[in-house]
Amino acid sequence: MNLIDSHCHLDFEQFDLTRNEILANCLQLGINDIVVPAVTANSWQKLLSVCEASPTLHPALGLHPMFMEDHLPEHISKLQQFISKHDTIAIGEIGLDFYIAEHDKESQTQLFTEQLKIAQQAELPVLLHIRKAHEQTIHLLKNYSISGGIIHAFSGSLEQAKQYQNLGFLLGVGGAMTHPKATRLRAMIAQLPLSSIALETDAPDMPLHLMKQQHNTPENITVILDALTALRTENKDEIAEAITENCQRVLRLENK
Ligand SMILES: [Zn+2]
Repeated sequence: MNLIDSHCHLDFEQFDLTRNEILANCLQLGINDIVVPAVTANSWQKLLSVCEASPTLHPALGLHPMFMEDHLPEHISKLQQFISKHDTIAIGEIGLDFYIAEHDKESQTQLFTEQLKIAQQAELPVLLHIRKAHEQTIHLLKNYSISGGIIHAFSGSLEQAKQYQNLGFLLGVGGAMTHPKATRLRAMIAQLPLSSIALETDAPDMPLHLMKQQHNTPENITVILDALTALRTENKDEIAEAITENCQRVLRLENK
C-alpha cells in the first residue's frame, strides 16, 4: 500500500527524539510521503532542514492564521525569498480562522491574500486552515488563479466541498472522524466524492479516539484509513489508491 500524510507537523520539537524511528515505521506501513506545513517564519529554517534529511518529507512554507502575533510585515518578502531559494511543495499552512471571536478578521484576510498572491505567482498549491470562514475563502479563491491545494481538516458542508473541488481542491480528513460523537462530520465524509479526499494526521495535534500514544503521529494514517473505510461503500485498497492519486495529482508529487 502506498499512503500519504498530507498534513503533519513532523518538524515540531515533540518529534526531535523520535523522528527517525517514526519515519522508519512509516516506510514499513507504506506511508511514503508526508507533507510538513509551517506555522511561523521562525520555524521555516528548521522545517527545511528536517525535510532535507528524508525523501519522505515535503516542506510547505507559510504563515498560519492562528499565530498572528508572531507574524511581521517583512515575513511576506521573506516568504518570497525562501520559496525562490528552496524547493517547496506548497504554500501553507495559511488561511482564515474566525472560530475565536476576538481574532482580527481584517488582518488575517490581508495576510491570507498576500500569501495567495505569492502562491499564484509561484504556481504552487496551497494548504489551507479554515474555520468558520468557508464562504469568505471560496469567494477569495475565485479572485486568484491558484493551482489547487488541500483544505486541512475540512468540516464544512457538502455544498462547500463541491465548490472547493471545482476550484481544484482536496478535502483533508483525519482523526476527528474517529470520534463516534462526530456524527455530522462522519455523515458528510461518507458522502464526499472519493476523488476529493486527502488523508492527514495533523500530528502531533488532533488526537484519535482511544489513542494510546502521548501525542498523534503520522503512523496513525493507517488508523485513519481504517476509519474512513468503515464509513464508505468502497473497499480499503480502492480508497487507498484513489486518495493517494488525488494527492499526487494536486501536490504534483510524482515529479518530486
Ligand atoms: Zn496544521
